[in-house]
Amino acid sequence: MNDILDLSPSERDELLNERPIFEFTAVLTDDRIETECGNYRYGELFGGFLTFDSYEYAQAYFEMSDAYYEDRQEDYQAAEQRAEEQLFRMPLYRDMTERRTALSAHRRRDPYANRKIHETMYVQQMILLNYRGILIESVIDADDDNAGKEKMYGQLLSRFGDDAPDDHFHEPFMASTKTEYRIRQCDDGTFRHCRRLQFRSLLDFLYIDLYESIVRKSYPKPCKLCHSIFWEEMGSAYEYCSNVAPGETVKTCREVGAKKGFKTKLKNNPIWMLYDRAYKRFYARRIKRTMTESAFAQWLYDAQELRDEALKTGIGNIDIEEYRRKLNEV
Ligand SMILES: [Zn+2]
Repeated sequence: MNDILDLSPSERDELLNERPIFEFTAVLTDDRIETECGNYRYGELFGGFLTFDSYEYAQAYFEMSDAYYEDRQEDYQAAEQRAEEQLFRMPLYRDMTERRTALSAHRRRDPYANRKIHETMYVQQMILLNYRGILIESVIDADDDNAGKEKMYGQLLSRFGDDAPDDHFHEPFMASTKTEYRIRQCDDGTFRHCRRLQFRSLLDFLYIDLYESIVRKSYPKPCKLCHSIFWEEMGSAYEYCSNVAPGETVKTCREVGAKKGFKTKLKNNPIWMLYDRAYKRFYARRIKRTMTESAFAQWLYDAQELRDEALKTGIGNIDIEEYRRKLNEV
């Protein structure tokens, strides 16, 4: 590691100006979240992260880790490059690309300097992947009336961070921030109150984003057909999203789902049933530690891909026995 005095003046400036990748400030107004590089609806980033496919990222992270422990510097660098590409494709970070200069500065001082950053991001991704499962499960099991819904989302908040890999933090999860309260004058002369929050972790931010959405009676909901996350306002009761449905070219999930008898068909869908059963089995192994964290992650990604492929192909066109066998392979 070089001494700071060995750096050129521009490198020194870069180092002094660099900020840890997970630290950022957000201003929360009545209806928007403003950050240094973007302006978002409440829930937009939470939903974006829950839908983001982190498979490539996790792969790159595993390769980074292996290369690090075996001290294969070139392989490490190649894997880190791929992890970094993926990181800046994630919601929020795709608007923060100027922070890449900070990562390059770290790397120049120590080739392995960014390993901790990626480890933290990987753990956060795993927690979110897990939470996505919790959300899907809770929404499908919840009572359809408003009271049932409010209760379910309340419980859902308290389960944020549940089953974090390696006991990442103490339960219950508590978002920690520094908050300033301000009243701002807008261009039209009116005054608005806002809070300026300093975050040190992505999960703290996403928890607050979810909380603020629920407070505004806007709820994240997994589509019962394609499982992407959409937002539901209080009073409306859609079960399906408005994206094009799997296996369809024009029809949306909402249109397909509106067909009579579709709901019962879905409840008894063997693609989901077999996936759920396999999930419970592998999850138990993870908890009992007869399976490593990375093996479980690998299985989870593979199984989800298999499931989504099968849903796309359609029940009539797949070999269900073959599907079951593949789900249970490690
Ligand atoms: Zn859908």
